[in-house]
Amino acid sequence: MNKRIIIIAILAFLAGAGMAVLQPFDDIQNMMNGQSKTLSATTLELAVGETAQLTLSNNTATVRWASADAGIATVDDSGTVTAVSEGSTSILVRAGLTRLSCAVSVTAAKTGTGKTICIDAGHQGTANTDTEPIGPGSDILKQKVTAGATGVSTGALESAIDLAVALKLRSELEARGYTVIMCRTSQDVDLSNAERATLANKANADAFVRLHCNFSLNASTQGASAIAPDTDNTFLSAETVTRSQNLAQCVLNGLTGKTGAQNLGVTRRNDQSGINWSMVPVSLIEMGYLSNAEEDAKLSNNDYQNLLAKGIANGIDAYIVNYLS
Ligand SMILES: [Zn+2]
Repeated sequence: MNKRIIIIAILAFLAGAGMAVLQPFDDIQNMMNGQSKTLSATTLELAVGETAQLTLSNNTATVRWASADAGIATVDDSGTVTAVSEGSTSILVRAGLTRLSCAVSVTAAKTGTGKTICIDAGHQGTANTDTEPIGPGSDILKQKVTAGATGVSTGALESAIDLAVALKLRSELEARGYTVIMCRTSQDVDLSNAERATLANKANADAFVRLHCNFSLNASTQGASAIAPDTDNTFLSAETVTRSQNLAQCVLNGLTGKTGAQNLGVTRRNDQSGINWSMVPVSLIEMGYLSNAEEDAKLSNNDYQNLLAKGIANGIDAYIVNYLS
């Protein structure tokens, strides 16, 4: 090959590469100086909505950022990473000859920072047949706490299912930044429904969520529902009643949205001690029917319980964002 052909080949390469011809040079110069490009982080842990800045050291070349999955996290031209939804992905960077990546793990949004949720797992291992007023100052008495239903096909106790979901919900809410108060974490307690509401009041909870399962004489009935105080409730302030109704709707929609359970709507009632003694927004969630063989099996299923917990947490998030922010 003569010199003229070599020069033409080099010129053609330079013309084709344009500005990019500087990039390999930049890398080679770094290598000669004993420097290599590094990313400011090789792993990132972000909550949905959070951002982080990635930078590339020892670089003068043009930087190109890309996300392996923009549905999980995006990155802009200046290396700002934004967490979009839960999951894992990588941010890739290209500069000169350098190819680097940063693993990104995205957790649920920290919606709950500064908020307190009180969770009541309905019932308990043994019922307490003593009575208490259904609300402050009321002369209507009701059993302190009942045993709860039993699964028609599994034989599972409602109190045990309520507790299992309550514990999962606690983990889910804490991961989202909430402070969580549990009325009970064991079957071996003796707490009346009024006493449970008092625990929520003492914590000045932003929401008091009571977890239950339903039972019907009609074995084909299935689906989830929620109970909120009615507008003419005389025990709760008007503001607490409205907020409770909003909470009930949000949590029920969150639950059914995540699990696919039938949405049977919000019922308004003024005869529940656990609602009437509450001074904070309160809703009782009927997660499904233990009298329906199919739903009974789901309610005892670990994966389904995780879906319930996530769905209820989504509903609490929605309530906080839409009504308390
Ligand atoms: Zn119940």
